[in-house]
Amino acid sequence: HEGQAMSDTIFSKIIRREIPAEIVYENDEVLAFRDLNPQAPVHVLFIPKRPLATLNDATASDAELLGHLLLATADYAKREGFAEQGYRTVINCNEDGGQTVFHLHVHLLAGRRLHWPPG
Ligand code: 5GP
Repeated sequence: HEGQAMSDTIFSKIIRREIPAEIVYENDEVLAFRDLNPQAPVHVLFIPKRPLATLNDATASDAELLGHLLLATADYAKREGFAEQGYRTVINCNEDGGQTVFHLHVHLLAGRRLHWPPG
């Protein structure tokens, strides 16, 4: 993915409203929308509006952005009423992590009992 402009990912197109997505949460730093191929009754992707390709690309100057991403997931879970029941957040990184879209995103999975370890 090196060399590919980060603005080329499908997620940047969603931020720019160039392709449709079911947006469920938005603030100044973060956008969240339903995953196209949900793995649980609730499967939402939280992305920074300022793109980073992977978690490896985050530096100390992105600390606030990373905080905003995680806080947004918990805020959404509370607002939707499943925070107490529980949920899972996941960041996949690169090949062995199973990352397929190179715009950093946090998966939020909820609505069923999730197994651990995920395999
Ligand atoms: P990754 O495997 O990179 O952690 O997760 C990428 C996720 O993005 C996958 O769960 C996949 O289903 C989802 N996805 C890929 N393309 C699109 C899209 O165009 N729209 C939406 N809403 N989700 C997408």
